[in-house]
Parts: sequence; structure tokens; C-alpha cells
Amino acid sequence: MDYELTENQIKLKQDAALFCDREIAPNAKLLDDCPRESVGKIMRENLRKLAESGFLASGLGEEKLNLFDQYIVGEALSKACASTYLSARASAFLCGGILKLSGTSQQKARYLFPLLKGELIGALAYTEPDAGSDVAAVTTVAKREGDGWLLNGVKDMVTNATIADILLVLAYVDNSTAADRAMSLFIVEKGAKGLKADAPCEAMGMRGVPLASVTMNNCAASGVVGDELGSGYRQLNDILELGRVGIAALCVGIGASCMEKAVQYAKTRKAFGKPIGFFQEVGFKLADMFTYNDLGRLLALKAAWAYSVGDPEAAVIASCAKLLASEGTSQIADWAMQIFAGHGYIKGRDIERLYRDAKFGKICEGTSEIQRAIIAKNELDKFLQV
Ligand SMILES: Cc1cc2nc3c(=O)[nH]c(=O)nc-3n(C[C@H](O)[C@H](O)[C@H](O)COP(=O)(O)OP(=O)(O)OC[C@H]3O[C@@H](n4cnc5c(N)ncnc54)[C@H](O)[C@@H]3O)c2cc1C
Repeated sequence: MDYELTENQIKLKQDAALFCDREIAPNAKLLDDCPRESVGKIMRENLRKLAESGFLASGLGEEKLNLFDQYIVGEALSKACASTYLSARASAFLCGGILKLSGTSQQKARYLFPLLKGELIGALAYTEPDAGSDVAAVTTVAKREGDGWLLNGVKDMVTNATIADILLVLAYVDNSTAADRAMSLFIVEKGAKGLKADAPCEAMGMRGVPLASVTMNNCAASGVVGDELGSGYRQLNDILELGRVGIAALCVGIGASCMEKAVQYAKTRKAFGKPIGFFQEVGFKLADMFTYNDLGRLLALKAAWAYSVGDPEAAVIASCAKLLASEGTSQIADWAMQIFAGHGYIKGRDIERLYRDAKFGKICEGTSEIQRAIIAKNELDKFLQV
């Protein structure tokens, strides 16, 4: 067993941390605070910087997905600004990753390479007002119109909706067959007839994400990912499954930022004549925070390793990583807030933002309940095989 990162991975980690601290972290508070209409412009600038530095395409440039590089850059970026990571990831990994795994060579040339270079911004739209965890319940439909397709439906809470040049939209093509063969992912370009991004959402956390609903009214799609009808459900599940490593990175990054700020505060804030870190109750919180975060990181890297060697349990390990890292980070943010006490609870403080952002991990891309259901099913299936 070898826990060491390679020389290249260590360098990537150092370079990403330096870059994100210098270029991305300074905008995190502004993205959280500014009027919702300004978020898109600031995020575009962050994505441009990430593309220029090469970090936007980390882990996606080689022939196979490299989840280690994805994780390493994801943690550093989330520590600096979790919203920026979510937006960058929606474009390059969710939208780009689907095209990389399933797109035709023309689709890769037209969309994937520009997405990785930051020339285009992408989004993936599957959630609807009445369908979240239960993806099969979506009601967006595609109907044939000559050689093309027209989409009708509403997608809810779409990351990058207000700045996307290209959206991948999940829709039913055939209601008469099982959901996993009845849906496709449609490519919709910005400016398509019948496409409308609604006003930006006022979210509790992750407020830097350009988030909005999207309405499609006889909206013209430019094509189907991979040109093969009925593969959308599988394509979506494949990317969300691999993406659990990235959501673990998001959570550990937020946790690392909480840790850093809480440690500094525990060393400098004094009560009863000494720094509060010397009180065992405060020190023990720091110890537990470190332990939870390190476990989240270890499990995420184990999941990346499991995928890299083709371990049949890779998907379930990724679920464990997402579950543990997200639950851990919520707890870490809560402890950090407790250490800052009233000074953390004031609007505009870093800990207050991190506390709100931390909650997101348990909700997104397969809630904690859904991860537990996946892990439990895996265990029960093993038991049934005995
Ligand atoms: C900041 C942000 C960004 C987002 N970005 C995107 C995006 O880019 N694209 C996109 O399509 N969506 C996006 N979403 C939506 C997100 O993916 C959904 O919120 C998430 O999938 C959960 O769906 P839901 O909110 O509808 O919850 P629901 O599915 O309605 O769940 C409600 C509750 O019921 C529980 N539940 C549901 N089913 C089960 C079950 N079988 N067993 C046990 N418990 C269950 C859930 O765990 C949860 O506690 C985003 C959301 C946010 C907040």
C-alpha cells in the first residue's frame, strides 16, 4: 500500500494551491455578496483564469479521465472558492466529461475542446421542479421535427444556466420503454430558439454559482450526445457516479478552509488570559476536524485509485467518499462556527459563508440518503450472494 502522491501530483497540488490562493480566493466573498446579476460576469473571469492556467482541464486532457488530478485541483480550488469549483466542474467535467466519454468526434471537436480551453462554458440540466433524486420522473420531452428535435420542459437549479454557451439537457424521447432506455441528452446551444434562462436564483450557500432555471418552449436542439438515442440516462448516471470523487473534493476543500481559519483563530483569540486553543474543548474540536477531513480525502483518493485499477466496487467506494466527506464537512463547519462563536455568526464573515456552502455537499448530485441507499444495496447484494 502506497499513500504517497507522485512527484507530478505533488507539483500539481502546490501549483494549484498557489494559483487558487492568488487568483481565485480574493473573489470568493464578492461572489457571495454581490447582486445576483453580477455573479455571471465575475464567474466568467474566474473560469477564464482557470482555463489560461490549464487547471480547468486538469484530469480531462488525457485519453482517460484522471480522477487523481481532478481531485487534487478540486480540493485546492474549493478551499479558495467552492462556488468557482462547482461552476468550473459543471462546465469542464459534467458537460465536457459526458462529451469526452460519449460524444462523437465531431461533437468533441465542436464542443469538448473549446470547453476545456475555456472558449465555451457548459452546463448539465437534469433536475426539474418535480424531479430531483428520482431522475426518471423528469417530464421534459423531445419530439422529432424534420431532421432535428424540439424540446419542451423546465429544468431547475442549473449551474451556469445564465452564462452557458452549451447545455446538455435530459429529455424523454420515448415514453413507451423503461426510463433507462427512453431518455437522451440533447445538446442545446446558447441562443437556440425557444430557450430561456430565468432570473438567477437566490441560494442560501454556493452563492457564487450562476444558478437559474431554464425553460424550453419548442426549443431547437443541435443534436443528441453520441448520436445514439436512449443512452441519456446511462450517460448521466456514469458522469454523476465518477463525479462523486469531485464532490468529495469540494467538501474536503471547504473543510480545509474551515480548519485553517479555525486554527488561526484558536491561536489568536484569547479568553480567561490564554489563547482559546489551549482549552481542551477547543483543541479537541480541531482534532476531530482534522480527522474527519483527512478521512474524507483518503476515501476520495481511494475511490480515484479504485476507478484507475478497474475495481468493481469503485462506484460504491465513491459513494462512501461523497457521503463521508459531505457529512464530515457539515460537522467541521459547525465546529468551526462554534470556535468563532458570535464572531463567526455575523453576516459577511468567512466562516458564515463556509458554513452555508458546507451544507450543499449533502444535497447535491445524489443526496446523503441516496448515497446510503446505494451503499446499503451493495452490502445487501453481497449478503444475498452468500
Ligand atoms: C447550488 C446548486 C447547484 C445545482 N446544480 C445543478 C445542475 O447543474 N444541474 C442539475 O440538473 N441540477 C442541479 N442542482 C439540483 C440538485 O442536483 C438537486 O437539488 C439534487 O439532485 C436533489 O434533488 P431535489 O433537491 O429535488 O431533492 P428531492 O429528490 O426532492 O429529495 C428531497 C428529500 O427526499 C430524500 N429522498 C428522495 N428520494 C429518496 C430515496 N429513494 N430514499 C431516501 N431518501 C430519498 C432526499 O434525500 C431529500 O432529503 C443544483 C442544486 C443546487 C442547490
